Amino acid sequence: MDLSGGRGWLQDDAAKNIMNYVDPVAVRELGRVLQITSAGRTYAEQAALYAAYLNGSGNLAAPPGTSVHESGLAIDTNDATWLRSHPEFGWVNTGLGFSEPWHFEYQGGAALAGGPINPIPVPKEDDMPSLKELAELAATPFKIRAAYRTLLNRDATDADIAGWLPVAVDQGWDFVEQWIGKSPEALTADGTEDLAAAVGRLFQQDMGRAASPQDVVYYTDMAEKQGLDAVHRFLVWARAQGAK
Ligand SMILES: [Zn+2]
Repeated sequence: MDLSGGRGWLQDDAAKNIMNYVDPVAVRELGRVLQITSAGRTYAEQAALYAAYLNGSGNLAAPPGTSVHESGLAIDTNDATWLRSHPEFGWVNTGLGFSEPWHFEYQGGAALAGGPINPIPVPKEDDMPSLKELAELAATPFKIRAAYRTLLNRDATDADIAGWLPVAVDQGWDFVEQWIGKSPEALTADGTEDLAAAVGRLFQQDMGRAASPQDVVYYTDMAEKQGLDAVHRFLVWARAQGAK
């Protein structure tokens, strides 16, 4: 359902929550409806944001297929401080502490006098990361840096770290370390290889099958724009998604 004022779309319950419960209070307290910079996104929109992030021209964004924005249950807002002060609406500031203080996810709950409107189940305690897992996650960027120094003999860029982080969250650190060691920098060490041929070899290595002609065209284009390393991270991530 589209939000009023061209603020994007959300699942019906989440959109109604914003327009029927959040906006009236925002109008009273802020003098206007909630400012939303990003709401629901299609897979293609998320892919474009992720690509922009990898090449350094965009904000932090999750790889396509992994963002809550694609489910229509997340918003980014300029009014984060205000929305945080109103937990009764059911918008949880899940981006806080993950460099995205503007990011909220709808988890239902009581909405003023209206009571719960078809609340979405909150994850059970068992589903939430343990303190140990959270500590591991926080340490992951440092592990990525260390692995680049050890395995590739250079410093990791911010794009390197951002590209591997979601894979580490999904698949664990050992998996990522193994694939950093198979970076195209090792694969095309002499630097003389034709880019399309390098992409073909990378695809075979990362996906475990031969690239089709379309694959070669598509990923050679991506390699020209974002670099072979970005293609490598994307393929490893794509394969891990499929294996789940
Ligand atoms: Zn967000």
